[in-house]
Amino acid sequence: MAEAYDDNNIFARILRGEIPCDKVHEDDHTLAFRDINPQAPTHILVIPKGRYVSMADFSENASDAEMAALLRAVGRVAREAGVEDSGYRILANHGPDSHQEVPHLHIHVFGGRKLGGMLPRKD
Ligand code: 5GP
Repeated sequence: MAEAYDDNNIFARILRGEIPCDKVHEDDHTLAFRDINPQAPTHILVIPKGRYVSMADFSENASDAEMAALLRAVGRVAREAGVEDSGYRILANHGPDSHQEVPHLHIHVFGGRKLGGMLPRKD
């Protein structure tokens, strides 16, 4: 069974305006803001505004409009960050094996430096 949504997770609090964020994009369904602990010169998080824990939850329960908005926001954020030509990486952690820390779906957008291999070979 899917994990229940925790309304006190940090991104829910950002969405409610209880915690500030460095916003780079917002539309009806999506918010994008800079990661507080960036791992690359460009490190932006793109999140749906809806209460979705993970990609599994989102892909099963979100509307087509929400899904389209999230993907369009990722492309737009990368373009506006100026990393489209140099290249960038998108990544979404899901569940314990991936070390997902915040239980609200988020897509990382990394760029602005050589990002190295896709995954470390070992833990
Ligand atoms: P995860 O490991 O869940 O894929 O990534 C969570 C990300 O959220 C981490 O990169 C972490 O730095 C970022 N993060 C955690 N708390 C905050 C916060 O309060 N504000 C922002 N902007 N990013 C946060």
